[in-house]
Amino acid sequence: MTAFAHQANAGYARELDVADSLAPFRSQFIFPEQHGRPVIYFCGNSLGLQPVQVRSAIDTELQSWAQHAVGGYFGGTHPWLYYADYCKPALATIVGAQQHEVTVMNALTVNLHLLMLSFYKPTASRFKILMEAGAFPSDQYAVETQVRHYGFDPADAIVEVAPRPGEKCLHTADIIAAIEQNADALALVMFSGMNYYTGQLFDMPAITAAGHAAGAFVGFDLAHVVGNVPTQLHDWQADFAAWCSYKYLNAGPGAVGGVFVHEKHAANVHLGRLGGWWGNDEKTRFKMEKGFVPKADASGWCLSTSQVFNTVALKASLQLFEAAGMEALRKKSLLLTGYLEYLLQQLPGLAFEIITPADPQQRGAQLSLYFHQQGRAIHDRMIDAGIVVDYREPGVIRVAPAPLYCSFSDVFKFYEILKTFS
Ligand SMILES: *Cc1c(COP(=O)(O)O)cnc(C)c1O
Repeated sequence: MTAFAHQANAGYARELDVADSLAPFRSQFIFPEQHGRPVIYFCGNSLGLQPVQVRSAIDTELQSWAQHAVGGYFGGTHPWLYYADYCKPALATIVGAQQHEVTVMNALTVNLHLLMLSFYKPTASRFKILMEAGAFPSDQYAVETQVRHYGFDPADAIVEVAPRPGEKCLHTADIIAAIEQNADALALVMFSGMNYYTGQLFDMPAITAAGHAAGAFVGFDLAHVVGNVPTQLHDWQADFAAWCSYKYLNAGPGAVGGVFVHEKHAANVHLGRLGGWWGNDEKTRFKMEKGFVPKADASGWCLSTSQVFNTVALKASLQLFEAAGMEALRKKSLLLTGYLEYLLQQLPGLAFEIITPADPQQRGAQLSLYFHQQGRAIHDRMIDAGIVVDYREPGVIRVAPAPLYCSFSDVFKFYEILKTFS
């Protein structure tokens, strides 16, 4: 990025931090320490840091439980009966949805299965699912076992869009072409919004439009997108989406997952779904009448009572997102990751290539560094030096400065440490 030309110095990084209106949010997070110093944490794409507020938020619910016991469903500071609802306003803003189009429940892979139950309705002639080659393993297993469940052979029923020979990222034109070529047999387009390995952000509106033109439903796995890049799921007319909350959303290990179901499907009981009491209309839930009456919104896909302790950290973290604003976060993220890219390009003698698209509109916070050799060893050296990043086979070190708590000085220090490696 030429905007940063000749700015590989600590003073410039500090200037960017001083000008950063989101810089105060850093103090709202707990950084692990190594040798008595906070680490450089570039792994928020895998597990976000703990917001300071979480401990007292959990304590509040522990107190409600102690004080009110079962009465906590209706009383206490935040009645548990409505616990999922507390997350909806912020989540709706983050993914670009109406509040009734989102809810929290279960975990990501479980939710992908539940949503496929509604949106993958294979027939003898229309039974294919189109996804990206090299999708996250859990998504591959989920799609494979879905098609097997209906008696199809994954070799026939799963269409994978792969990079061109010698390339690592996908061309939107190739995704669209694959959708068009399979139009007659396509039941579902199930794409990730961003590939976990390359960090490529896909053109979700274009994929949605092409999938619909082919007569298929279109759903997205937003694990690496939510809290990282703003989306407009409602306007794009995506049918459904699911995500986890422990990556950029900082809700802690195993936190409750999130889902989006477009309002056009909310009241459609013919889609088919599995029911449970939490998805049933509250007014009739306890009338003991036969017949599941799903709520006419995304909550109609819920099965079980709200997972309060799995949701409490998300609720606390979402307050920070509301205060920061997705637009401001994305703006900072473009600058922060752009600065990281610029500095990496100044490094002499470290043999890697950045496989994440150079176009900022096709990526989020993460840059993936592909090492032809020694990737794992270099990753281990980074960890020893107090830099938390992760390694993904084959050969990739993922570096993700999350804009909510990472600074420009972090990025500069990272560069200074890497310089000593070459
Ligand atoms: C992180 C991630 C998952 C993890 O799924 P869980 O069910 O939460 O364990 C699944 N898919 C993608 C694309 C991911 O990035």
